[in-house]
Amino acid sequence: MTSDSTSPVRIAVIGGGVTGLTAAYRLTRAGIPVRVFEAASTIGGPVQTEQTTDGWLIESGPNSLLLNDAGVTGLFDELGLSPRLQVAGGSAKKRFLVRGGRVLALPTSPVSFVATPLFSAAAKARIVREVLRGRGNARTADVSVATLVAEHLGQEWVDTALQPFVSGIYAGDPTRLSARHAFPQLWEAERRSGSLIRGMLALAKARRQRGEPRARMVSLPEGLHGIPAALAAALPAPTIAVGTRVDAVMRTRGGGWDVCWARGAETGSETFSAVLLALPAAALARLAIGEPEQRPLAALQQIEYPPVTSVFLGYRRDQVRHPLDGFGVLVPEVEKRRILGVLFSSSLFPGRAPEGYVGLTVMLGGTLHPERGLFSAAEAIAVAREEVGLLLGVTGEPSIVRHRSWPRAIPQYNLGYEAFMQSVEAVENAQPGLLIGGHVRDGIALSACLSAGLALAKRALAQPNRA
Ligand SMILES: Cc1cc2nc3c(=O)[nH]c(=O)nc-3n(C[C@H](O)[C@H](O)[C@H](O)COP(=O)(O)OP(=O)(O)OC[C@H]3O[C@@H](n4cnc5c(N)ncnc54)[C@H](O)[C@@H]3O)c2cc1C
Repeated sequence: MTSDSTSPVRIAVIGGGVTGLTAAYRLTRAGIPVRVFEAASTIGGPVQTEQTTDGWLIESGPNSLLLNDAGVTGLFDELGLSPRLQVAGGSAKKRFLVRGGRVLALPTSPVSFVATPLFSAAAKARIVREVLRGRGNARTADVSVATLVAEHLGQEWVDTALQPFVSGIYAGDPTRLSARHAFPQLWEAERRSGSLIRGMLALAKARRQRGEPRARMVSLPEGLHGIPAALAAALPAPTIAVGTRVDAVMRTRGGGWDVCWARGAETGSETFSAVLLALPAAALARLAIGEPEQRPLAALQQIEYPPVTSVFLGYRRDQVRHPLDGFGVLVPEVEKRRILGVLFSSSLFPGRAPEGYVGLTVMLGGTLHPERGLFSAAEAIAVAREEVGLLLGVTGEPSIVRHRSWPRAIPQYNLGYEAFMQSVEAVENAQPGLLIGGHVRDGIALSACLSAGLALAKRALAQPNRA
């Protein structure tokens, strides 16, 4: 098939994670034939769930999705997922932090804030001062999120609250993560109000006034893999080519694109009118774009992706002393423990453990301790078991254990990330019909990636030479 202006429109989506699948779904709904190329043997990227026959449901990548976007809510409505969404219950709002070796609940009301031993009196007073802070000159140069928060609230808030919170999202280092790119809402809050707290409250109010849905932490009874599975099921049967790696996307004389792929020893190419790249940074860096041997995104290889390991441990309820009445526990670096935190998986959503049992997901590794993200399965499981024993009073043998290592887990939007964003934009500008989106560019949260997929499809449909 050729791809000059008289050819029928056909779009290639490279990458079958949630971004690519969402884009493919939306284009298909618009009547555009699509082909998805996915290098791995399964779709969904890190969004993988295992369901055992004896009642365990285990996430090996993401455990929950923060649904805070009207577009994504609409997508779930279209896919028929909305009525089946599991919303994390009231107790999941309770979060725990380790302080001085003890697991303490984060305050949820002004009274509990005054009473909590988590923060010193001086740190609590900084909150009041921060709210009263004047507007000042709007910051223009990016700073690390640690610098931003330290300037507003002091170092204790960075060490005790920000650092573990950043670990929970990026498995990253707050002294290197860019305030502007990794935490755009905090950046915007300061620019709007001078105060981070007043600014965040104002942003939340503005969202409510725009009629945007209240943010909810959600999953599905079959786990998060139900999302890519639902997207794939809504595509006509031969749309997705799994186990098919794309190595090059070449311009054709007719203004289209040849997608050059490899499946085992087999290689081939297909012609499309446009190409959407929804790939991790290393894959974008390796991809020949436009001409053979041209790798205009090679610099993206430098984006840091620390390894993260997830260990799932299932126990009888009576083996765990802690009530597990919350979302989970985060572990500040200053506590010198060996894990990032523990999710109380069976408290978060129903159906994660058989009756009378509980499931815990322990995360290790990240930017500050990449070696722990690369532990052997035996080492990671041993460390996870020891830490939940000490922190949560877990005793005895687990009924089930699962281990999954993600050697390149989450891109770090560190200081200087602007340069990567600019090179992505430059490639798009130089290559009509080639669009790039996903976790490298649009945010790492699942909701951001789903939204990125919708935006990619919208931009593809708006291309002047589309039809
Ligand atoms: C351990 C872990 C825990 C997480 N926890 C959460 C969480 O609780 N909540 C949350 O919101 N987010 C979480 N995330 C982040 C979130 O899962 C990801 O940011 C998101 O899934 C990325 O989606 P994507 O489609 O942009 O990229 P990906 O899912 O990475 O999709 C890209 C796809 O491209 C494929 N590919 C690569 N190279 C090629 C090639 N040459 N040709 C064809 N295909 C190729 C890959 O196999 C992959 O399937 C977590 C991530 C990890 C790793």
